[in-house]
Parts: sequence; C-alpha cells; structure tokens
Amino acid sequence: MSSSRCCTWTYERNVCRRAVARDDRCIFHLDNKTSVEADQFCRAFSEELQRFEKAEEPIIDFRGFVFPVDLQLKDHVFEKRLFLSGATFLRRAQFAGATFSDGAFFNDALFSELAGFSGATFSKEAIFCEAIILGHAAFHDVQFRGFTNFSEVKFKGYAAFDKAEFLGDAEFHYATFSDDVLFDGARFGRVAFRDTKFHGNLRVGARFDGSAVFERALFQRDTIESSDLSFLLEQDPYQNMSVTSFSGATVGPSGDVLFIQPREYNSRLGVEMNHAIDRVSFLNADLVGFNFQEVEWGRYHGRRAVVDEVLMSITPFENVTPEQVRQICARLRANEEKAFRYAEAGDFFIGEMDMRRRWLRGKGWRAIPERLLLWIFSGLSRYGESISRPALAAFILIFSLAGLRLGLHESSEWQFCQPLSFQESLTRSVASFFQLRSTALWTDTLERLLSIPILGVLFIALRRKLERRS
Ligand SMILES: [Zn+2]
Repeated sequence: MSSSRCCTWTYERNVCRRAVARDDRCIFHLDNKTSVEADQFCRAFSEELQRFEKAEEPIIDFRGFVFPVDLQLKDHVFEKRLFLSGATFLRRAQFAGATFSDGAFFNDALFSELAGFSGATFSKEAIFCEAIILGHAAFHDVQFRGFTNFSEVKFKGYAAFDKAEFLGDAEFHYATFSDDVLFDGARFGRVAFRDTKFHGNLRVGARFDGSAVFERALFQRDTIESSDLSFLLEQDPYQNMSVTSFSGATVGPSGDVLFIQPREYNSRLGVEMNHAIDRVSFLNADLVGFNFQEVEWGRYHGRRAVVDEVLMSITPFENVTPEQVRQICARLRANEEKAFRYAEAGDFFIGEMDMRRRWLRGKGWRAIPERLLLWIFSGLSRYGESISRPALAAFILIFSLAGLRLGLHESSEWQFCQPLSFQESLTRSVASFFQLRSTALWTDTLERLLSIPILGVLFIALRRKLERRS
C-alpha cells in the first residue's frame, strides 16, 4: 500500500495508516461525512469495536474519531483501556450504564450535544481534561473508582454530577462551568477545584470524606467586581440570581473543605482578582469540617456578611428566615473563632445578634425588654465588638454632664461660696461616671445611672479584646 493511500491522521506521533476514504482521511477520521459516508462509518465502527475487543492488544483506540450520528453504547462493558482522546461527537454520545473496566480517556474530546455517562462505572482512571462539552453533561450516579480528571474541561451546558461517587482523587483545575452544575448527594474523596469557574448556579450538597480544596475558584462573578453585597439589592429582585449553595453538605471524620479565596493582584492580567465567596450560601451545611483559610467574604453594613442575610425573602432565598441566617452566622462565628480568626468571628457575631433582633421584631410586646437591651448593646458597642464606641460615649457623657453642672450653677465644694470652676465640674463628672461620688445632687445620680450601661459594655468589649488577643 503506498503512503498516499493511507490515512495521515496523527495524534501524539501515532499515525492512523487506515485506508483512505476521502481527503487523505479514513472513514473514522474524516470530519465532514456525507450521509452515505455516515452509514458506511456506522457499519465500519461496530466492526472496528469488535476487532479491538477480540484483538491481543490491551487497548481500544478510537482517538480522533469523528462520530457523525448518535453514538449508542449504553450499558456496554469495555474490558480494555478505552481511548477516545481528541474524538468529535457531532451528535449525542450515550455511554449511560457503561462499565469501563480499565482506564477511559476522553481528553480533548468535543461533545457537540449530550455527554451521557449516567450510571456508568469507571473502574480505573477517567480522564476528560481539556474536553469541551457543548450539551448536557450527564454524570448522575456515576462511580469514579480511580483518578478522575476534569481539568480545563469547558462545560457549556448543564452539568449534573448528583449522587456521583468519587472514590479516587478528583481534579477540576481550570474547568469552566458556563451553566448550572449539580453535585447534590455526591460523595467525594480527595477533590480539588483550583482556578475553577462557576458561572451558573452551583449546588454542592455533597459528602466530603477526604480533603476538598476550593482555591481561587470564581463563584458567579467577574474578576474585579466589588464584594459589597448591597449592590445585589439594586438588581431586579425577581431575576433569578446565580449562587453557590452548600445546603446539605456534610464532612466525614477525616474530611475537610478548605477555601483559599483571597483578593489578589494578578500581574499577568494587570487586574485585581476577586475570588470572594460572597455568593456562596452555607445554609444548612455542617460547617464543623470547613476551613476558611484565606477568604474574601462579602460585605454588608460595613462588616463581613453572608449572602443569605442580604437576600432574605428575595429569590432564591425567599424562604430563608432571620432565625436560619442567625444559625449560619453563629456557625461561621464558631468556625472562625476555632481557627483564631477573631476579626471575622466578631463580624459574624454582630450578624448573629442583628438576626436575633430581627427575629424578635415579630414576637410582640413580650420581646420589648430584650429588644431594648440589644438595641442599647448594639448602639453602644456593636454587641461588645467595639471599644471605641463605649469610649466615645463615656467621653461625651462626662463632658456634657460637666457642662450641665456649670450651666446649673452648682456650688463649689472646694472653695466656700465660690462658683463651680470648670476643673472642679469635670472632676465631679469623672468621679460620678466611675461611681465614686455619692451625694444628694440629682446630676450625680443621673450621671451614675447613665454610666452603668457604658461601663458594662466597656468591660465586656475590653474583656473580649484582651481574652482573645492576649
Ligand atoms: Zn484514520
């Protein structure tokens, strides 16, 4: 056979060498098949599959094949290592229920429509890196027993990995999900999402038995957007906003979910990269195994806050109550405190208390004493998180009461029959503030009464600062 009669298709130095059908390509590698050629392909393909399955060689090599029609290999058992690297599926690729007893290689493949793998079993490695999936990526109930690689895969359609089991290590580095993606009910061993982009809704109500890493992942945002959450309220409240939800996520005894999501300057792109987790909801997630190592949180009312608080009663959080948000804040506070990140813990404590007040609003007159107390506690010291607020309140109280005493022309106790000097008035005010004067003067009594809450919160705020940060 002369070389001009052989298919010249080459992949990683492997030359095809099958007989040419047209344009220097065999029937398998020919990319613009006519309907006659497509029929010819279908017959040749089933023969080729059988030939590989009966042959001595331990592989089935369909690299670079161009499938002009639906590929139906439902429930097929591949006993040899399967190579579909660089293949093009111009119609649906149906592998539902299939068993891949050895490795399966779909790297660089192009799925123009459905990539159907639901219920399939990958016994060894499953390699999809750099594949492009334009249609629905169906991976429901798939069992990945070996190393699984979805790095740099472009998922253009809806991707479903619900109830999938990743028993080996899994990687999704630099993968892009343009539409929604579902991992609810999935089980992960070790998994890493580094530089992964999630543009649509992401639901990760999964079980994590190993270490899961989200590093520099982009959750529903462009790179340089602000993480101030109040702008979400300016959007059309009825538009369905994309968010990430960890609702129902659980972490096994040796598992953890690690977030490394810093705001950083990307010198290559010349822009500030914002990997904030401001659109990530941790409602109903077991946060004990979560680790927020370096994270840019969303901000609201000048503090770190969760998206659930801002969008409470707005789609998709229409059923979220203040009590639920309070629980998220409390879990995040406990989590951050355990990791010694007190600034974050303090902000979530404020959120927790604010949500308690919001919840009390609906409780009628019985809640009035607690609401009043929390109102004072919040105003005077951000619930004990601020020292400057009670210090300022003390300063204002001391000086205004000193002024009041002068205005009332109280008599001096230092010099007989002399008007009260400013210095004496100030000394009297300071002593009253610290409960060191006990006279019949009503100004002293008033100041002593007013100073009680200020001294109380000052004590709480100081203790919190010193106990935590000493
Ligand atoms: Zn060929």
